[in-house]
Amino acid sequence: MRGWNRRDWLASLMLAATGQVVVANAWQERTKKRAPNKGQAPSKGKLALEDYEPKSMLHVTETKVPRARFPAIDFHTHLSWSSRRGRVTEAHNNATPEEVLPVMDRKNVRMMVNLTGGYGNVLEQTINYWQKPHPDRFVVFTEPWFEKIRDPGYPQFQADQIGRARELGARGLKLLKTLGLYLREQVTSGPLVKIDDRRFEPMWDAAGAHRMPVAIHTSDPEAFFLPTDRFNERYEELNAHPDWSFHGKDFPSDRELQEARNRVIARHPRTQFVVLHVGDSENLAYVSELLDRYPNMHTEIGARIGELGRQPRASRKFFEKYQDRIMFGTDAVPRGFDTPQQIFGEQLYEIYYRFLETEDEYFDYAPAAKPPQGRWRIYGIGLPETILRKVYYENAARLLGVGN
Ligand SMILES: [Zn+2]
Repeated sequence: MRGWNRRDWLASLMLAATGQVVVANAWQERTKKRAPNKGQAPSKGKLALEDYEPKSMLHVTETKVPRARFPAIDFHTHLSWSSRRGRVTEAHNNATPEEVLPVMDRKNVRMMVNLTGGYGNVLEQTINYWQKPHPDRFVVFTEPWFEKIRDPGYPQFQADQIGRARELGARGLKLLKTLGLYLREQVTSGPLVKIDDRRFEPMWDAAGAHRMPVAIHTSDPEAFFLPTDRFNERYEELNAHPDWSFHGKDFPSDRELQEARNRVIARHPRTQFVVLHVGDSENLAYVSELLDRYPNMHTEIGARIGELGRQPRASRKFFEKYQDRIMFGTDAVPRGFDTPQQIFGEQLYEIYYRFLETEDEYFDYAPAAKPPQGRWRIYGIGLPETILRKVYYENAARLLGVGN
């Protein structure tokens, strides 16, 4: 996820207990402000891009898919987050299990993986809140203690914490794109820490030894590394969120980040890596090459049906070829109003199901008036039942060690 990470890492204080409400209000304000003059014809050539909401005139099939055809594991959700500024003391939950469970039941989501479980006492709180009371519905992943990176004993400490997290009940390890794009030698200043920095070696090994899959988000959409100009396919998104751009400054290129991650996967063949967001959803040929090269690599589709769904033939082949290594995930954030493609709710699941299960054409990839990631619509890939079973459930169940 994007805006989330930035807040999570650099500005988490803005989102104290009531922060999500603040975000929700800000979002509504913005929406109001941007509402075009209804019914008023703009003078010639003066329609602002942000006011443009073209309605498709295609008479095409609209299939409603209210439930996943098979029980699903949502491998990529953010039900909670932790404050990273100063000492970590508190877990922040974006919703309650009582709010989330009925939606899961209606959408046929059997289990959700809450990736951002934090570490130390936050992890314990998060497991106690979600996983302990509902062990068959929620599992929680842990995250690294990045702010200890400068401590001389960090490599072993971090490896030991993975074991400790496992004892607490954590089922995997999550890396935000923080690693590679934000984490610096003095945590928030100094040179960027490389993804394949040797200080993390014992951590990757420990995850493998404890059979904890590593869910890793590396880099971001390719357009985020290009100038925010009229040629940028995500111009509106970057214009609305200038801090999402990784163009210039001292940021590595998208490919450099991917390759550093690849070296980690290659060096730890007994650790299972789930490359989130398809890895590089604009370049399925490249992701295919990596999946061929690394048998311990898997992938997940959260927040990338906007890319997969506008190359439906390539996507369908990709799912056919790697049907045992692709997982269903949505990157859902309860009340995640500033990223409409991630707002947890029934609409979000129905869009993913429609993409995976139908051959519907030219539909919205996010529950929003305007496509939030770019001005395009998507096409369903109509996967057969055998592949759906694997993608929705079996692949994730095998990695997580949960029953069928
Ligand atoms: Zn995410």
